[in-house]
Amino acid sequence: MAFEGLADRLQGTIKKITGKGKVTEQDVKEMTREVRLALLEADVNFKVVKDLIKRIKERAIGQEVLQGLNPGQQVIKVVKEELTELMGGEQSKIAVANKPPTVIMMVGLQGAGKTTTTGKLANHLRKKYNRNPMLVAADVYRPAAINQLETLGKQLDMPVYSKGTEANPVDIAKEAIDQAKEDHKDYVIIDTAGRLHVDEGLMDELQQIKDTVQPDEIFLVVDSMTGQDAVNVAESFDEQLDISGVVLTKLDGDTRGGAALSIKAVTGKPIKFAGMGEKLDQLEAFHPDRMASRILG
Ligand code: GDP
Repeated sequence: MAFEGLADRLQGTIKKITGKGKVTEQDVKEMTREVRLALLEADVNFKVVKDLIKRIKERAIGQEVLQGLNPGQQVIKVVKEELTELMGGEQSKIAVANKPPTVIMMVGLQGAGKTTTTGKLANHLRKKYNRNPMLVAADVYRPAAINQLETLGKQLDMPVYSKGTEANPVDIAKEAIDQAKEDHKDYVIIDTAGRLHVDEGLMDELQQIKDTVQPDEIFLVVDSMTGQDAVNVAESFDEQLDISGVVLTKLDGDTRGGAALSIKAVTGKPIKFAGMGEKLDQLEAFHPDRMASRILG
C-alpha cells in the first residue's frame, strides 16, 4: 500500500513527540528533520518539502504549541493540517454542465490507466450520482484501446461511441456529443490517445479536441508508481491544456506516494480521484485529510 514507508517512519517520530509533556524548540527541529527525510525518501519534490517544513516549523515553534496542554499532539496536528493543505485541502467535486451533457476529457500517457479510469469514472457517476454516461473511443491509433473501451462498455452495460481507427479524433468527439444529446446521456467521457512520452503531436491533437468540444473537465490520469515523473508529466499537460484535475492511479501498488504529495503543490490542480486496483469499482474520491491521517497514523 502506498505511503507505508513514509507512515512507518513518521509514526516512530510521532510516538516520541506525543509522549512529551513539554516540547522544546529542539524537539520540533528534530522532528521536522525526520519528517523532511521521510518525505524526501517517499520521493516528494524537494522544493515542496522545503516549503512544507518551513511552514510546519513556523507554526509549531509558535508559543501556543510549545506551552499547550498536549504540546506533542499539537505539533502532530500542525503536521497533519499542513499535509492536508499540501494535497489540496477540501476534496473537489465533478463539474455539472448547465446544459447536458457534461463533457469530461480524459488525458494522459499510455499505460497510466486512462482507459480503465474512463470506465471506473463512468461507473462512479452512475452508482454515486445516478448518471447515464456515454464513453467515447477517441484513441484511434491503437485498435486495442478501442477494443478495451468497448469491453468495459459491455461490462458496464453503457454505450461506447466508436468509429474505429479511420476517423479523426476531433470529429469523433464532436459527433459523440451530438449523439449523447440525442440519446439523453448526461455525461460524455472521452478517452483520448496516449503516447509513451509527452510529445507535441499528441498535445496539438488534445488541444484541438479541447477547443472543439470545450470540455467541462479535463482529467489527467497519472501513474503514481512513476514517482517524480508523474509530477513532471502533470506539469507538462497542465501547461498545455490547463487541466482541471488529476486522477492518480495504482495507489494500491507498492508506491512511495510522493506524487500524491507533490502534484497539487506543483501544478495547483487538485487530485480528484485515486485508482486503488484494476477493477471497475476500485476508484475512490481523493480525500487529502484521510490521506494525511493514513500517513500519520
Ligand atoms: P492507458 O494506456 O492509459 O489507457 O492504460 P490502461 O487503462 O490500459 O491501464 C494500464 C494497466 O494499468 C492495465 O493493466 C490496468 O489494469 C492497470 N491499472 C489501471 N489503473 C490501475 C489501478 O488503480 N491499480 C492497479 N493496480 N492497476 C491499474
